Amino acid sequence: GGTNDASTVESEITNHLLVQHWRKDFPILHTSLYGKPLVYFDNAATTQKPSIVIEAENHYYRHTNANVHRGIHTLSQQATEVFESARGKLRQLINARHDHEIIFVRGTTEAINLVAQSYGRSRFKAGDEIIISAMEHHSNIVPWQMLCQQTGAILRVVPVSDAGELDINVYQSLLNKKTKLVAISHVSNTLGSINPVKTIINYAHAKHVPVLLDGAQAIAHLPVDVQDLDCDFYAFSGHKLYGPTGIGVLYGKADLLDEMPPYQGGGDMISSVSFEATTYNKLPYKFEAGTPNIAGAVGLGTAVDYLSAIGLDAIVKHEDSLLNYASELMTNIPELRIIGNARHKTGIISYVMAGVHPHDIGTFLDRQAIAVRTGHHCTMPLMERFGVPATVRISFALYNTKNEIDKLVSAIYQARELFK
Ligand code: PLP
Repeated sequence: GGTNDASTVESEITNHLLVQHWRKDFPILHTSLYGKPLVYFDNAATTQKPSIVIEAENHYYRHTNANVHRGIHTLSQQATEVFESARGKLRQLINARHDHEIIFVRGTTEAINLVAQSYGRSRFKAGDEIIISAMEHHSNIVPWQMLCQQTGAILRVVPVSDAGELDINVYQSLLNKKTKLVAISHVSNTLGSINPVKTIINYAHAKHVPVLLDGAQAIAHLPVDVQDLDCDFYAFSGHKLYGPTGIGVLYGKADLLDEMPPYQGGGDMISSVSFEATTYNKLPYKFEAGTPNIAGAVGLGTAVDYLSAIGLDAIVKHEDSLLNYASELMTNIPELRIIGNARHKTGIISYVMAGVHPHDIGTFLDRQAIAVRTGHHCTMPLMERFGVPATVRISFALYNTKNEIDKLVSAIYQARELFK
């Protein structure tokens, strides 16, 4: 009825004002390319940074810069303080039990390599099995392949349905006495599918198999609670979370991390060194050899503050509405095929258009100042699964608008005429 319409309109307006407000926080969104305002739809590759994050790094270098965990001098103590305070913010973000379960790494890629080379290499033998899926990013494939070459372990792959969902029955049948680890993406970077990770973890734990979640695409788009999930490892990158590049997190359960050998050797990760016997530092330092990306951690901590102030619930709601709006408009374009339509998705749409190479569409869109990703998205096996060499991918963040989607859709219609 009328009341309903009025409240819909009202909530649309509220949402519009909210997003316009958020957009002000991101300086790059106010730049133009080819005389047109930038439309940034490549958020799955990396998100833009709010001023407060840029300023936090800047402020750190201007006022606090020193090395951490080393000096008695004031700046070093302050640097250590802000670095460790960032760790605390990340613990809170994913609701880990302890700060020392947060290991600062370069990003998701390094986090997964750490688990493969420390946990896997020290434990896996020939014939052991590692379960991954057909929708994994190369970062969650290649480190395991390298480990298999080193140990003789074997990769098992959970297939993906036409809708872009994991086949959980096959997954269950793959779990067996030889399974030593399950490593699965929380959200697919190419399809946006949200995997049923709780079910995946429950089945694995019933067989005493630990689970690593690749959270690169989940962390900025879903509330993540590692205690509730009960995952054993959780990996993500700061730069996909409105934070800086070169900083990310490996979460691991303390008892697992404690038992694992160091990944790299060097300063900070030791408690004493002699030529006879070196002893390792406690968590988390055991896994943080060398001077870390201190400014990056500070920036990432600030990104977490920013995200918390907005609230993930508001972000999920907004990105869901963008996804629904774009999906509906794009489904109506006859030549366009959207790859995967999982029941549970984040704001990612991959598509191909009959007769036009994705790179041509990408270039055409770029000239309209619309940034999309084209290619295999570091998921070549998934491309093979869907029988396409590449797709065009659009991916949303909190600052995207329906108006930007209208621009994209109208540009796709133009491309359709042009390449006919
Ligand atoms: N896993 C997924 C699902 C991703 O989307 C990405 C990002 O490209 C990665 C892993 C690798 O992240 P990074 O390059 O930040 O290490």
